[in-house]
Amino acid sequence: MEISLLPIVNAEGRELAVSENLDFSAKNEVGVSFPEPLSFTGKFVNTGNGIELTGSGEVDAEFTCDRCGEVFEDKITFELEEWFIKASEETNGDPDTIVLEGDMVDLGEIVYRNLFMNLPMKVLCKEDCKGLCAKCGANLNHGECSCDKREVNPAFADLDKLL
Ligand SMILES: [Zn+2]
Ligand SMILES: [Zn+2]
Repeated sequence: MEISLLPIVNAEGRELAVSENLDFSAKNEVGVSFPEPLSFTGKFVNTGNGIELTGSGEVDAEFTCDRCGEVFEDKITFELEEWFIKASEETNGDPDTIVLEGDMVDLGEIVYRNLFMNLPMKVLCKEDCKGLCAKCGANLNHGECSCDKREVNPAFADLDKLL
């Protein structure tokens, strides 16, 4: 999703409002997918020192629980702030500044990077997810399985089989 900053790039004080639905359904991440488009609203402002982008995004993400493997939906909302300057200007060595090549910016890429930073480190369907039974694989959130949960001493494990 490329946005042209042509209307504001050389006009100090000028703003460009954006309101886009961004499709990230083709992204292939572990444990999370985005079947629904992300809605982003924000604005680019030419401040005279560069162009500032502020905005917020919202998307219904589909997560896979790290512990039980269940798929569940959760809404992710985040704010973003980015700073652009023209290639002809000094960056002052600020690594967070995006240098504009021409007047096009890839809004999808910028929003996705911010979305990614706002994803949870650990994905759990609920705080106290009980996970899966190590023996039969049953989802223990749905109730106890009939497996013997006593710790088996490995020294007696073979003996156990004989009985
Ligand atoms: Zn779970
Ligand atoms: Zn079991």
